[in-house]
Amino acid sequence: MEEMKMNAISACARAGRRAALILLALAIGNDVRAQQTADQVRSELFAVKQVVPGVWAFIVKPRTPGLAVSNTAVIEIGDKVLVVDSHLTPSAAREAARLIAAITGNKSVRYLVNTHWHPDHVQGNSTYSSAFPAAIDIIAHINTRRDILALEIPFLKDQKQLLPRQIADIKSQLAIGKKDGLPFTDAQRRQLEAQLAQGEALLKEIETLEITLPSLTLDRSMSLHAGEREVRILYFGRGHTEGDVVVFLPKEKVLVTGDLLTNS
Ligand SMILES: [Zn+2]
Repeated sequence: MEEMKMNAISACARAGRRAALILLALAIGNDVRAQQTADQVRSELFAVKQVVPGVWAFIVKPRTPGLAVSNTAVIEIGDKVLVVDSHLTPSAAREAARLIAAITGNKSVRYLVNTHWHPDHVQGNSTYSSAFPAAIDIIAHINTRRDILALEIPFLKDQKQLLPRQIADIKSQLAIGKKDGLPFTDAQRRQLEAQLAQGEALLKEIETLEITLPSLTLDRSMSLHAGEREVRILYFGRGHTEGDVVVFLPKEKVLVTGDLLTNS
């Protein structure tokens, strides 16, 4: 294990974390004409690192506010692609898909693995299933599919109701211009304005969002094979949630841990 290239994918986002507006001009596949290397691609949200040939980590950039809060792994498997985790927002998933097209020379995403049910790992599922409707299977542990239904979908529904009230409250505070009877300082006003922008951006992302459920589930393990590549999806019992899986490439000794291993 010491020699194993550990790729700690994803820090868990706190439920309800707000987002700032990031204008992403590029949509999936736009103007991607040739395969690019990890050093050539540019993104406001992610640093792209090649782990081994055909395997990349998209590391969310520090202080990227809100719309992207977790990492992802991208693995070529034959002439297709496997992606690990789909991010918090559709815009983050679209940006990841744009980068995938660039670094793989427009290969299609065939598999998406949800390492667990948390919002920052599944709320981009529908972005991938819409982009690749005939091709994609979403893979998760059976408990993760259960918990998306039981926990994530109700959480998202609550967020859709809660955010407009929070936005209205901030607007009201800004209109009144006072806190505890005293006029806002410039810093207080800027903070509220930033919260307002983040809340409005996140609401715009989720107000029509529906979660696409995993289509393939496992209870212990699953292996995918294509050419020289073997990808194992493994479950070892309860960890960060009741359904965490890891993605392991035995030949390359690459392990994608989801939130079982984080930097905080
Ligand atoms: Zn998590």
